[in-house]
Amino acid sequence: MKDQKKINIAIDGYSSCGKSTLAKALAASLQYVFIDSGAMYRGVTLYALESGLIVEGAIDKEGIIRSLPDIELRFGKLMEKGKEHPLLLNGKDVSAAIRSMQISQLVSPVSAIREVRHKLVEEQQELGRIGGVVMDGRDIGTVVFPDAELKLFLTASIDIRTERRFLELTTKGMKVTRAEVTQNLLERDHLDSTRAESPLKQADDAIVIDNSDLDQQQQLNLALSYVREIIHQLA
Ligand code: C5P
Repeated sequence: MKDQKKINIAIDGYSSCGKSTLAKALAASLQYVFIDSGAMYRGVTLYALESGLIVEGAIDKEGIIRSLPDIELRFGKLMEKGKEHPLLLNGKDVSAAIRSMQISQLVSPVSAIREVRHKLVEEQQELGRIGGVVMDGRDIGTVVFPDAELKLFLTASIDIRTERRFLELTTKGMKVTRAEVTQNLLERDHLDSTRAESPLKQADDAIVIDNSDLDQQQQLNLALSYVREIIHQLA
């Protein structure tokens, strides 16, 4: 599909539904750029934590808003094919630090701050301006790329999501229980879908994929069939 028109693909859904896995695989297969918008919200949260703007769970919202001009987020060069671009926070690679359980527990309230969303949405829209982007998140099909040619909304059962995230974290050597993972996923889903500013919701024109019983290859094949159909229609 190399010389064909490059479309934008928006992938939204609840936490740990495999959005990044699918986005990464689609980008590799189509030679598109993969952007993990959640990493950007995690980057702002890490900055706030390291700058003393979050102390014992209390978030200094005004302080974070004032600091926004000092926060530069960039995706660095791809280190390995099929992997993600490292996230650089003010020039420093924070790709591992943003995945901690502590950041997972703080990111949803930080990402509910309107000014944080405005800054990041603007940057995300700029990244997708010329097309050929696969971006995953919570508001990509509704707010960031409302005109994306393909919008996917992923779902999976909470047991499956817990197991996937538990394995991901423990494989990286993090100490966490399944119960903690489930609680974090449910809490984030609740906060993300009930916040006032661009809450997580399925776009009216999104295609829903429940991947509870699909392996990664089956999910990729299904998504690629939608891509082919759309590119065919646009040709
Ligand atoms: O995708 P990931 O789980 O890393 O996202 C972390 C958090 O960032 C989400 O729980 C949500 O609070 C926030 N987020 C968001 N909008 C996006 C992507 C992520 O609010 N587009």
